Amino acid sequence: GAYIQAIENANEALNAYIVTTPEKALQMAEASDARLAAGNAGALEGIPLGIKDLFGTEGVHTQAASHILDGFKPHYESTVTANLWADGAVMLGKLNMDEFAMGSSNESSYYGPVKNPWRAKGSNADLVPGGSSGGSAAAVAARLCAGATATDTGGSIRQPAAFTGTVGIKPTYGRCSRWGIVAFASSLDQAGPIARDVRDAAILLKSMASVDAKDTTSVNIAVPDYETAIGKPLAGLKIGIPKEYRVDGMPEEIEKLWQQGIAWLKDAGASIVDISLPHTTYALPAYYIVAPAEASSNLARYDGVRYGLRVPGRDIVDMYEKTRATGFGDEVKRRIMIGTYVLSAGYYDAYYLQAQKVRTLIKKDFEDVFHAGVDAILTPATPSAAFGIADQDMAADPVKMYLNDIFTVTVNMAGLPGIAVPAGLDARGLPLGLQLIGRPFDEETLFQTAYVIE
Ligand code: GLN
Repeated sequence: GAYIQAIENANEALNAYIVTTPEKALQMAEASDARLAAGNAGALEGIPLGIKDLFGTEGVHTQAASHILDGFKPHYESTVTANLWADGAVMLGKLNMDEFAMGSSNESSYYGPVKNPWRAKGSNADLVPGGSSGGSAAAVAARLCAGATATDTGGSIRQPAAFTGTVGIKPTYGRCSRWGIVAFASSLDQAGPIARDVRDAAILLKSMASVDAKDTTSVNIAVPDYETAIGKPLAGLKIGIPKEYRVDGMPEEIEKLWQQGIAWLKDAGASIVDISLPHTTYALPAYYIVAPAEASSNLARYDGVRYGLRVPGRDIVDMYEKTRATGFGDEVKRRIMIGTYVLSAGYYDAYYLQAQKVRTLIKKDFEDVFHAGVDAILTPATPSAAFGIADQDMAADPVKMYLNDIFTVTVNMAGLPGIAVPAGLDARGLPLGLQLIGRPFDEETLFQTAYVIE
């Protein structure tokens, strides 16, 4: 009840929810109360959550914040959300995001930008919450839900978490089932939680994660009780500091934050080692080939026949064209053009194949470091704090927007787990985050180390 009221009061200003489901929330909460009274409560009994609009929710609008999915209500439930409901969680509604999860500022949503609940000291200017899971991050930061689901293809959980002072973890590829989640780039997409603190993130991920026969890339490795990793001393852990992440023009306050994080981990008993991940500089360009290539293929299904919007035409081809021209926004069209270009016969070898080779090298960089005994890697989460809505530089040049992902995309390319944890404020009083990257399926070490930093 309190959350429903909070959403009513604050959502108009923040635009974090696209759809609210108060009747459903009350129904689910009543069922929760009954289970609590009967003494058979689940791990998340009665916990109210916001759901990123990318997750298919049965009978509830699922539009990926795109015009082309106008009015679409699936007849299925994503595995991740089904897991949460099975543990007793309650759905408050669907959260805004960049259209089809493409973006780093939440400005590509058909439903308009989300506003970051944070403001710079002495300023009233609206800031972005980051993206693509901007609605999830803003809703958690503004207390419009107890926690939220999110997805991360190149940084979409970790960057908005860093911009809003929340915790976000992208688990290892295969940890959560992708079934029932609208696909962006299938070999990179992973679901994970955005939460108020490390403990909440651990509890939520435990519920979300599962092997699933409906997603053959989900992995059958037991999901540990992540909460038990919290509070464990760091003695014996080796934390790597990659020199390639000290990028040109990195603001001094980011460097300082990083040094502070190193000091905290050292104080807690970890040993710190300098490491090298030599192919890091190629990660961003390779990502912006692989992700659009997969996106262009995944988006072929939106043709006006099966889901959402249909704009009538002279014949079926004209209908397809009109529907896609009207239904997709600019950023989505840009990705489709890049994707079809890099996959086309004449350019496949030069771009797509090269990018896949680079991806293998990036993965090997990490394998070498972990093989040498490093347990986790500490980096900044983003190159800056939250920027303004309608930032001129970013609007004029999409590549500037893509640079937001510089510290996060390597993790998706290598399929590794990564967590963003709030670590301090910049000179304007805005939150900054650090990132910890772990071995495959070792999310526990991330919760253990992030807890020392938060
Ligand atoms: N900002 C990146 C992109 O636009 C990542 C988005 C994501 O992780 N979904 O592709």
